[in-house]
Amino acid sequence: MWKIDQAYIDGAFVPVSGKEVVQSLNPATEQVIGTAILGSREDAKRAIAAAHRAQQALGQTGKAERIDMLRSLQAAVLASSDPIRDSAIEEYGAPLARAQWVSQYASQCFANAAQTLADYPLTRHIGATRVMMEPVGVAGLIAPWNSTAGTVCSKLASAIAAGCASVIKPSELSPIQTQVLADALHRAGLPGGVFNILLGRGNDVGDEISSSALISKISFTGSTPTGKVIARAGLDTLKRVSLALTGKSASLVLEDADLTNAIPLAVNAAFMNNGQACVAGTRLLVPRRRLTEVIERVQAFVGNLRVGDPHAPSTDLGPLVNRAQYERVQGFIRRGQEQGARLIVGGEGRPLGLEQGFFVKPTVFAEVTNDMDIAQAEIFGPVLSIIAYDDEDHAVDIANDSIYGLQAYVFSSQPQRALRIAARLQAGTVLINRIAPDLLAPFGGMKQSGIGREFGAMGLEAFLEAKVVASAECV
Ligand code: NAD
Repeated sequence: MWKIDQAYIDGAFVPVSGKEVVQSLNPATEQVIGTAILGSREDAKRAIAAAHRAQQALGQTGKAERIDMLRSLQAAVLASSDPIRDSAIEEYGAPLARAQWVSQYASQCFANAAQTLADYPLTRHIGATRVMMEPVGVAGLIAPWNSTAGTVCSKLASAIAAGCASVIKPSELSPIQTQVLADALHRAGLPGGVFNILLGRGNDVGDEISSSALISKISFTGSTPTGKVIARAGLDTLKRVSLALTGKSASLVLEDADLTNAIPLAVNAAFMNNGQACVAGTRLLVPRRRLTEVIERVQAFVGNLRVGDPHAPSTDLGPLVNRAQYERVQGFIRRGQEQGARLIVGGEGRPLGLEQGFFVKPTVFAEVTNDMDIAQAEIFGPVLSIIAYDDEDHAVDIANDSIYGLQAYVFSSQPQRALRIAARLQAGTVLINRIAPDLLAPFGGMKQSGIGREFGAMGLEAFLEAKVVASAECV
């Protein structure tokens, strides 16, 4: 049983002054596995002050010192990859393979940032003018509950590479994952205050971070409505803001797609992370001529997916994170039927044989039109909508008919044709015949899926500010 009552501030675990206690439930068993006291606005102020003190020295470091820090963080997180993996299974319900991947990815973020920094020219010249890329200042890193270790490590790695101290606020729904990660990061032995971690509600700890005059930059991952609140809160102090937000991604199956490969990939794109992924491809766009064939293949593939104990290597889908998320997804499944979509797999309620836990049936609707709620809203559960299209122009129109533009998938046996379609899609990333991202390429959303990019050189630049020095003499 976990009992968490501390925040990580100025290089040490210290008691929080907050009073609100939250419980952590194992979503597969609904058993309480821990309690946590959330931090308060006062705790946030302490953390921000510590980061502000550390910024002075950190901002003066050069590449070599930052790369050393990143290597220490990489080693510390790698050494804790088993507890990081286990906490994602226990507290979040991530299936073993996914939890394993995230735990490895968390340490890889630091290696990637070290490599990016090594290759990046922090000083360059335009004629006789010197351009220096300086740290933007103290950063607030705010994360959602659906990939705690991955999001925190990715943001922290870029911040350190840029020379920015940080205050990290993971989600109040992931206290155990946060504690395990904070223990690991602490073991890297970085100077006090370089990063600080505390749990707390968005409207006090989150708001303090987003509005504090001592913070220069916010890197936020979460929902679009929260992103807008954070951008507004940062306006008075003109914070630099990166927002990685909601998605409603389309998977386009072209006429010439090899369905044997495409359908498993497309379904996995929709149901990855138990359907709780910002990049989930939850609208499957299919040429009308191949609709029957696609439906049959989807039914067969989804019918064979195993839902259950996330510890079991054979499990494809674990539970949703909590009861609220379970109810929300049930609501969408009901609404899909009410609005006239045809249920072809799954439906309301738990899968057969699972009486406990926030398990939902992987669900697929056909005869979906793009104006239905299930085609427009991010459901954040394993619910896939099949939408028929007449020709390529129609497919592109449907894919782009969304306020979001995070990711898209194209399946085709003609690379040039797929590239032509990719060029017309309004999405930050388009993946062709694959669903794995390139983690060194810039990642982020168009339209209301976000502002700015993470990962690689562009992720580093999100924490840098250009300073130009031009002299009358040649120096
Ligand atoms: P959320 O927006 O509810 O919360 C995210 C974080 O913001 C939490 O830590 C929360 O406490 C904090 N927060 C809430 N109100 C705040 C405020 N007023 N000021 C400052 N912080 C505040 O999102 P969630 O439900 O935790 O996560 C799911 C959402 O995140 C989905 O929409 C998903 O698509 C999105 N997401 C996006 C990406 C991406 O890279 N684009 C990645 C993962 C998740």
